[in-house]
Amino acid sequence: MSGLVLKGISKSFGGTRAVDRVNLTFAEGQLTALLGPSGCGKTTLLRMIAGLEAPSSGSLLLGGRDITGLPAHKRKFGMVFQNFALFPHLTVRDNVAYSLHISGASRTKAAEMAKRLLDLVQLSAFGDRRIGELSGGQRQRVAIARALAQEPEVFLLDEPMSALDAKLREEMQVELRLLQQRLGITTVVVTHDQREAMTMADSIVVMSNGRVEQVGSPQDIYHHPDNAFVADFIGKANFFDGVTEPGGIRVGPMHLSAKPNFVRGSPVRVAIRPERACLDDEPGENRLSAKVTFVRDLGPVREYHLDTPLGAMVVENAPGEVRKSLVIGDRTEVRLPPEALHVFPDPQAAVAA
Ligand code: ATP
Repeated sequence: MSGLVLKGISKSFGGTRAVDRVNLTFAEGQLTALLGPSGCGKTTLLRMIAGLEAPSSGSLLLGGRDITGLPAHKRKFGMVFQNFALFPHLTVRDNVAYSLHISGASRTKAAEMAKRLLDLVQLSAFGDRRIGELSGGQRQRVAIARALAQEPEVFLLDEPMSALDAKLREEMQVELRLLQQRLGITTVVVTHDQREAMTMADSIVVMSNGRVEQVGSPQDIYHHPDNAFVADFIGKANFFDGVTEPGGIRVGPMHLSAKPNFVRGSPVRVAIRPERACLDDEPGENRLSAKVTFVRDLGPVREYHLDTPLGAMVVENAPGEVRKSLVIGDRTEVRLPPEALHVFPDPQAAVAA
């Protein structure tokens, strides 16, 4: 049983609270991504899970057992770091076999297991190469094989793709995800890249300022963000500030139909994804006059920058969704379907009040 539970975990460095009262459950066999901007506490949280950093308060449970005080080497957790931390003078095979030796396996057993692990990460043909003779993607696979050699109960990866170029990174994300699913190993990956998180994770933990902002599936986090920070950090969104009024929201000169569950007169932030705003001729509520200020073709979609009575906004529609082709300077109408609007209480306005 490898489900991992964090209860009220905090970590302070002097006056900096890097991780602030985090409660999380990492389900057994699932891949969870810790996602957030630089400095939000992802690495500190991962290091506490690994046992490389002691929490200032709170506890960690593995399969119901309290492991808060257990030293790193007794946790049976496999780790892959940003720089892979491989031994450059050893061969690929010896890098993998080394960790088997130190955990007490005989030479024959270690060689046998190293072979099996290199097969698993598709590097059997590279066993005799030195690390310096490998590509970035191959090095990453060695690091993964070496971490798996410990037969870890939990697999921890800190920005494992950051040393790879964009194309290889995407390939390795898929490969790593397939491997993790095949092995069914409880895995936690730190990343600041939302595409990476969405490609690999069963569950995404969005963090900011040491706190958890939201936990959910990639779909959930994208389509049902809990707050403006998550809507802004995951995917693109247009934001407008407004105040609730009967039947909707007043934003500047406009009334937008929406169904906010807020007391009338509450300050709110309204968000809409670029692909949910429509430049078609369908009837519907929330039509705004718009002037096209920029157009670019992104392949499957075209991106339109618009000037509207609510301010500037960006709309992405597939070419077939837009009735007539629009160019810079054109006047048109954009429709914001009420069901596509996310309405969040505005924490800044609440503080100001
Ligand atoms: P990045 O994506 O840039 O790696 P992160 O989300 O992983 O960032 P952490 O490295 O966990 O963030 O850092 C969280 C906060 O704690 C930051 O403000 C950082 O400066 C601080 N911090 C981390 N480690 C230490 C340390 N050993 N001593 C002092 N402050 C630290």
